[in-house]
Amino acid sequence: MAYNSENVFAKILRGEIPCAKLLENEYALSFKDINPQAPIHVLVIPKGAYVDFADFVAKATDAEIAGFNRTVAEVAKQLELTVPGYRLIVNSGANGGQEVPHYHIHIMGGRNLGPMLSRA
Ligand code: AMP
Repeated sequence: MAYNSENVFAKILRGEIPCAKLLENEYALSFKDINPQAPIHVLVIPKGAYVDFADFVAKATDAEIAGFNRTVAEVAKQLELTVPGYRLIVNSGANGGQEVPHYHIHIMGGRNLGPMLSRA
């Protein structure tokens, strides 16, 4: 799938719509999810234009991949989630339930999150 620069996260990166920013560096932007599914639910998105996980690992530079993933760990640390623990979620494509076609990682925590998937 080609990258669509009108997606909501692209608009956030361009400053066209606001976000509750937590951390920003040359590789990534982190902000609170607008519809939190856990007491702590934040998103980390790469600065570059990548549709999903596969697109990111195929096209991003090694520096971008390392910088992005280190930012995820840094955000979790700043949120004091490292010791109690947390969950990272990457939805990809239709079966993965991806809604926004700009690669992102969900960081979720603040309570025991229970089983990895619902049993439904
Ligand atoms: P996904 O289903 O993995 O694509 O997740 C997309 C996430 O983006 C959902 O959890 C939404 O609640 C979140 N989201 C959508 N629009 C915004 C926004 N403007 N600001 C923050 N989070 C958003």
